[in-house]
Amino acid sequence: MNIGVLSLQGNYSEHLIKLESLDLKPIKVKNKIDLFKCDGLIIPGGESTTMSKMLDFQGLRESILEIKDKIHIMGVCAGMVLLSDTSNYNNLETLSIMDFKVNRNGWGRQIHSFNQKIKTSFSDNQFIGTFIRAPKIVSYSDSIKCLAKVKNEPVLITDNHHLACSFHPEYSNDLSVYKYFFKLIN
Ligand code: GLN
Repeated sequence: MNIGVLSLQGNYSEHLIKLESLDLKPIKVKNKIDLFKCDGLIIPGGESTTMSKMLDFQGLRESILEIKDKIHIMGVCAGMVLLSDTSNYNNLETLSIMDFKVNRNGWGRQIHSFNQKIKTSFSDNQFIGTFIRAPKIVSYSDSIKCLAKVKNEPVLITDNHHLACSFHPEYSNDLSVYKYFFKLIN
Protein backbone atom coordinates (compact mmCIF):
# COMPACT_ATOMS: atom_id res chain seq x y z
CA MET A 1 0.00 0.00 0.00
CA ASN A 2 1.62 3.24 -1.17
CA ILE A 3 0.20 6.27 0.57
CA GLY A 4 1.16 9.72 -0.59
CA VAL A 5 0.70 13.06 1.14
CA LEU A 6 0.19 16.07 -1.12
CA SER A 7 3.13 18.20 0.00
CA LEU A 8 2.64 21.56 -1.69
CA GLN A 9 1.42 23.60 1.27
CA GLY A 10 0.02 23.18 4.77
CA ASN A 11 0.12 20.37 7.31
CA TYR A 12 1.75 17.63 5.22
CA SER A 13 4.70 16.96 7.59
CA GLU A 14 2.39 15.90 10.43
CA HIS A 15 0.73 13.28 8.20
CA LEU A 16 4.11 12.03 6.95
CA ILE A 17 5.31 11.65 10.56
CA LYS A 18 2.10 9.85 11.53
CA LEU A 19 2.40 7.39 8.63
CA GLU A 20 6.11 6.81 9.34
CA SER A 21 5.24 6.04 12.98
CA LEU A 22 3.04 3.24 11.60
CA ASP A 23 6.01 1.82 9.70
CA LEU A 24 4.58 2.88 6.36
CA LYS A 25 6.85 4.58 3.87
CA PRO A 26 4.73 7.53 2.78
CA ILE A 27 5.42 9.32 -0.49
CA LYS A 28 5.93 13.07 -0.30
CA VAL A 29 3.87 14.07 -3.35
CA LYS A 30 5.15 17.19 -5.08
CA ASN A 31 4.70 16.23 -8.73
CA LYS A 32 3.02 13.78 -11.14
CA ILE A 33 5.78 11.18 -10.86
CA ASP A 34 5.21 10.96 -7.09
CA LEU A 35 1.43 10.96 -7.53
CA PHE A 36 1.34 8.07 -9.98
CA LYS A 37 3.10 5.81 -7.41
CA CYS A 38 0.22 6.20 -4.94
CA ASP A 39 -2.69 3.92 -4.06
CA GLY A 40 -3.95 6.49 -1.61
CA LEU A 41 -3.44 10.24 -1.28
CA ILE A 42 -3.92 12.49 1.74
CA ILE A 43 -4.68 16.13 0.94
CA PRO A 44 -3.78 17.90 4.19
CA GLY A 45 -5.13 20.95 5.93
CA GLY A 46 -3.68 24.33 5.11
CA GLU A 47 -5.10 27.02 2.88
CA SER A 48 -7.40 25.67 0.18
CA THR A 49 -7.09 28.74 -2.08
CA THR A 50 -3.27 28.55 -2.07
CA MET A 51 -3.27 24.78 -2.51
CA SER A 52 -5.71 25.07 -5.41
CA LYS A 53 -3.38 27.55 -7.14
CA MET A 54 -0.35 25.34 -6.48
CA LEU A 55 -2.16 22.31 -7.94
CA ASP A 56 -2.42 24.27 -11.19
CA PHE A 57 1.12 25.59 -10.96
CA GLN A 58 2.50 22.03 -10.63
CA GLY A 59 0.08 20.62 -13.25
CA LEU A 60 -1.28 18.29 -10.58
CA ARG A 61 -4.99 19.13 -10.84
CA GLU A 62 -5.35 17.33 -14.17
CA SER A 63 -3.36 14.31 -12.93
CA ILE A 64 -5.41 13.96 -9.73
CA LEU A 65 -8.62 14.14 -11.77
CA GLU A 66 -7.19 11.58 -14.19
CA ILE A 67 -6.55 8.96 -11.48
CA LYS A 68 -9.23 9.82 -8.91
CA ASP A 69 -11.24 6.65 -9.60
CA LYS A 70 -8.17 4.41 -9.28
CA ILE A 71 -6.79 5.85 -6.05
CA HIS A 72 -8.45 6.75 -2.76
CA ILE A 73 -8.19 10.27 -1.40
CA MET A 74 -8.55 11.52 2.16
CA GLY A 75 -9.10 15.28 2.34
CA VAL A 76 -8.52 16.93 5.70
CA CYS A 77 -9.89 20.41 6.41
CA ALA A 78 -8.54 22.46 3.44
CA GLY A 79 -8.27 19.03 1.75
CA MET A 80 -11.97 18.50 2.44
CA VAL A 81 -12.71 21.87 0.82
CA LEU A 82 -10.72 20.78 -2.26
CA LEU A 83 -12.53 17.43 -2.54
CA SER A 84 -15.92 19.17 -2.40
CA ASP A 85 -18.01 20.58 -5.19
CA THR A 86 -18.12 24.14 -3.85
CA SER A 87 -18.30 26.93 -6.42
CA ASN A 88 -19.17 30.13 -4.60
CA TYR A 89 -15.64 31.41 -3.88
CA ASN A 90 -14.04 33.56 -6.60
CA ASN A 91 -10.46 32.67 -5.72
CA LEU A 92 -10.99 28.94 -5.28
CA GLU A 93 -11.48 26.13 -7.78
CA THR A 94 -12.27 22.88 -5.98
CA LEU A 95 -11.63 19.43 -7.48
CA SER A 96 -15.35 18.43 -7.26
CA ILE A 97 -14.40 14.82 -6.61
CA MET A 98 -17.10 14.23 -3.96
CA ASP A 99 -20.68 15.42 -4.18
CA PHE A 100 -20.99 17.83 -1.24
CA LYS A 101 -20.63 21.56 -0.60
CA VAL A 102 -18.97 23.41 2.24
CA ASN A 103 -18.91 26.77 3.91
CA ARG A 104 -15.20 27.57 4.42
CA ASN A 105 -14.36 28.46 8.05
CA GLY A 106 -17.96 27.43 8.88
CA TRP A 107 -16.82 26.08 12.26
CA GLY A 108 -15.32 29.47 13.17
CA ARG A 109 -12.26 31.58 12.48
CA GLN A 110 -8.73 30.87 13.77
CA ILE A 111 -9.47 32.46 17.15
CA HIS A 112 -12.41 30.09 17.58
CA SER A 113 -10.37 26.90 17.00
CA PHE A 114 -11.53 24.14 19.34
CA ASN A 115 -11.14 20.52 20.38
CA GLN A 116 -14.21 18.31 20.36
CA LYS A 117 -14.88 14.71 21.38
CA ILE A 118 -15.66 12.65 18.29
CA LYS A 119 -17.47 9.34 18.08
CA THR A 120 -17.47 7.68 14.66
CA SER A 121 -19.88 5.03 13.40
CA PHE A 122 -17.00 2.58 12.81
CA SER A 123 -15.16 2.59 16.14
CA ASP A 124 -16.12 2.34 19.82
CA ASN A 125 -13.26 4.65 20.82
CA GLN A 126 -14.01 8.32 21.31
CA PHE A 127 -11.19 10.72 20.56
CA ILE A 128 -10.49 14.42 20.43
CA GLY A 129 -10.81 16.15 17.04
CA THR A 130 -9.14 19.51 16.48
CA PHE A 131 -11.06 22.08 14.42
CA ILE A 132 -9.01 24.97 12.97
CA ARG A 133 -10.92 27.26 10.61
CA ALA A 134 -12.71 24.07 9.64
CA PRO A 135 -15.16 23.78 6.74
CA LYS A 136 -18.80 23.06 7.56
CA ILE A 137 -20.69 20.77 5.20
CA VAL A 138 -23.79 22.60 4.02
CA SER A 139 -25.25 20.00 1.63
CA TYR A 140 -24.48 16.54 0.33
CA SER A 141 -25.98 14.07 -2.11
CA ASP A 142 -27.28 10.53 -1.58
CA SER A 143 -23.86 9.18 -2.61
CA ILE A 144 -22.42 10.45 0.67
CA LYS A 145 -22.45 8.58 3.97
CA CYS A 146 -21.91 10.42 7.25
CA LEU A 147 -19.44 8.70 9.61
CA ALA A 148 -19.34 11.24 12.47
CA LYS A 149 -21.28 14.28 13.58
CA VAL A 150 -20.64 17.22 15.89
CA LYS A 151 -23.64 19.23 17.12
CA ASN A 152 -25.69 17.20 14.66
CA GLU A 153 -23.57 18.40 11.69
CA PRO A 154 -21.51 15.94 9.60
CA VAL A 155 -17.73 16.24 10.15
CA LEU A 156 -16.50 13.00 8.57
CA ILE A 157 -18.00 11.68 5.35
CA THR A 158 -17.31 9.12 2.65
CA ASP A 159 -18.68 8.16 -0.75
CA ASN A 160 -17.26 4.67 -0.10
CA HIS A 161 -14.21 5.54 -2.21
CA HIS A 162 -12.88 8.80 -0.79
CA LEU A 163 -12.96 10.28 2.71
CA ALA A 164 -13.35 13.90 3.84
CA CYS A 165 -12.74 15.14 7.36
CA SER A 166 -13.41 18.60 8.84
CA PHE A 167 -11.03 18.12 11.79
CA HIS A 168 -7.33 17.19 11.97
CA PRO A 169 -6.75 13.47 12.76
CA GLU A 170 -2.99 14.07 12.60
CA TYR A 171 -3.23 15.91 15.95
CA SER A 172 -4.95 13.01 17.71
CA ASN A 173 -3.36 9.88 19.20
CA ASP A 174 -6.29 7.89 17.91
CA LEU A 175 -5.65 6.18 14.59
CA SER A 176 -9.16 5.08 13.69
CA VAL A 177 -9.67 7.66 10.91
CA TYR A 178 -6.38 6.63 9.26
CA LYS A 179 -7.30 2.96 9.70
CA TYR A 180 -10.67 3.56 8.04
CA PHE A 181 -8.82 5.19 5.13
CA PHE A 182 -6.40 2.23 4.89
CA LYS A 183 -9.43 -0.10 4.70
CA LEU A 184 -10.85 1.91 1.79
CA ILE A 185 -7.50 1.52 -0.01
CA ASN A 186 -7.29 -2.21 0.66
N1 GLN B 1 -10.15 27.48 6.29
C1 GLN B 1 -9.07 26.91 5.54
C2 GLN B 1 -9.43 26.92 4.06
O1 GLN B 1 -10.55 26.98 3.72
C3 GLN B 1 -8.78 25.49 6.00
C4 GLN B 1 -8.16 25.47 7.37
C5 GLN B 1 -7.41 24.21 7.69
O2 GLN B 1 -7.07 23.43 6.81
N2 GLN B 1 -7.08 24.05 8.95
O3 GLN B 1 -8.53 26.83 3.26
